[in-house]
Amino acid sequence: MPLFDPTLEQRRFVAIAEDLAENQLRPRADEVDATAVFPKENFDAFAKAGLLGLRIPENLGGMGADVLSAVMVIERLARACGSTGMCFKMHCESTEPMWRLATAEQNERFVKPIAAGERITTTAIAETGTGSHTWSLQSSVTRNEESYELSNVRKGWVTSSEHADLYFTPAMLDDAGPGQFTSFVLEKNAVDWSIDGPWNGLGMRANASSPMTFSGTLPQGNRLGGESAWQTEVLPVFMPFSMITFAAVYLGIAEGAYATCVDHVTGRAYGDTGSKLAEIDGIQRYIGEMRIALDRTRALVYAVADLIERNDIADPAPFIESVCAADETALFVTRTAMNVGGGRSYGGQNALGRYLRDAQAGSVMAPTDDIIKLRVGRMQLGQPQF
Ligand SMILES: Cc1cc2nc3c(=O)[nH]c(=O)nc-3n(C[C@H](O)[C@H](O)[C@H](O)COP(=O)(O)OP(=O)(O)OC[C@H]3O[C@@H](n4cnc5c(N)ncnc54)[C@H](O)[C@@H]3O)c2cc1C
Repeated sequence: MPLFDPTLEQRRFVAIAEDLAENQLRPRADEVDATAVFPKENFDAFAKAGLLGLRIPENLGGMGADVLSAVMVIERLARACGSTGMCFKMHCESTEPMWRLATAEQNERFVKPIAAGERITTTAIAETGTGSHTWSLQSSVTRNEESYELSNVRKGWVTSSEHADLYFTPAMLDDAGPGQFTSFVLEKNAVDWSIDGPWNGLGMRANASSPMTFSGTLPQGNRLGGESAWQTEVLPVFMPFSMITFAAVYLGIAEGAYATCVDHVTGRAYGDTGSKLAEIDGIQRYIGEMRIALDRTRALVYAVADLIERNDIADPAPFIESVCAADETALFVTRTAMNVGGGRSYGGQNALGRYLRDAQAGSVMAPTDDIIKLRVGRMQLGQPQF
């Protein structure tokens, strides 16, 4: 029984995503994972399909997708290829504050070219020093008369790194208080940048999530929102969407692993009796347990997407809870699927190993599962969050 009945428009977005997932992403997924090469052809296909402007309003050249459509698109892409799903999620989450906070001039310079498929964007927030404590960034920026000076702003993990054209980057003005970040759009062609090391992830291997350093002079027109307006202007449009799209990636990885596992158990037959793995009680129970975890998480993720669509964002708990639920479901399903898949899956005869490795990123990417649980507990107890 379907848990949810999408609108015609939502079905249209899902159909576009499924076509790309099956015809572009899936055939390349094992190779980009094995070679750790950024999936540029997939992004070319997204640009051609208009997907780089997924959430950008139609009057700016985008597709105008609602939040749930974006979640379903990202989930479908991640089912086929976790690395590409994550790079696309980073593109969408960094584009979100750009189109929602852009001035008329920024619409022309940034938003319309993204919608036209001419720019890939990403998020450069986490620093090497402060890591998962993203609320205490240290990168500082100096204010000049009509511009800002970036001097060696070092970001520890930038998904898509040199393959992106625009970076959504918060930093501290010299005279700002703790947590009062100012947000910038860094244009790769207009600042000095370097890749400070290779990306050699356990999973998400094609993500190119390398450390990067940025320096240069930024015109005021590269600032998104007001100075030091992170909490008041930027977080409300960035955080909920960032969280729900993380959840979409991990739900997609879990669904991809589940489907691979079902294929495996219905295909693998024993030589002596000819009976299938799918006919064994214990295996049937594992399949049921994974399905229940997936459906439970999907219900939460879709409900939270609806909260965001209605701009009901005063309580941050549901957004971060959806990330943790999807992370844990991905860890549980990939682990269980590997157990069911046995030596054949461990030995690489299907994609379960890739899903298992990709799923590990969920618990260590900010907001990490540890920190989500701590924050939710503190909210329950009325204790300060940070
Ligand atoms: C695949 C991948 C892609 C990424 N892409 C991007 C990107 O595009 N943009 C970006 O900005 N960042 C990105 N990141 C960075 C990410 O969001 C985290 O900031 C980073 O992984 C933190 O790593 P760390 O080693 O510094 O963790 P640490 O901060 O050293 O934490 C280590 C462990 O300690 C735990 N811990 C820390 N504090 C507490 C506490 N108070 N209570 C309990 N446990 C705690 C954490 O949960 C974590 O498990 C990416 C990371 C990965 C893995």
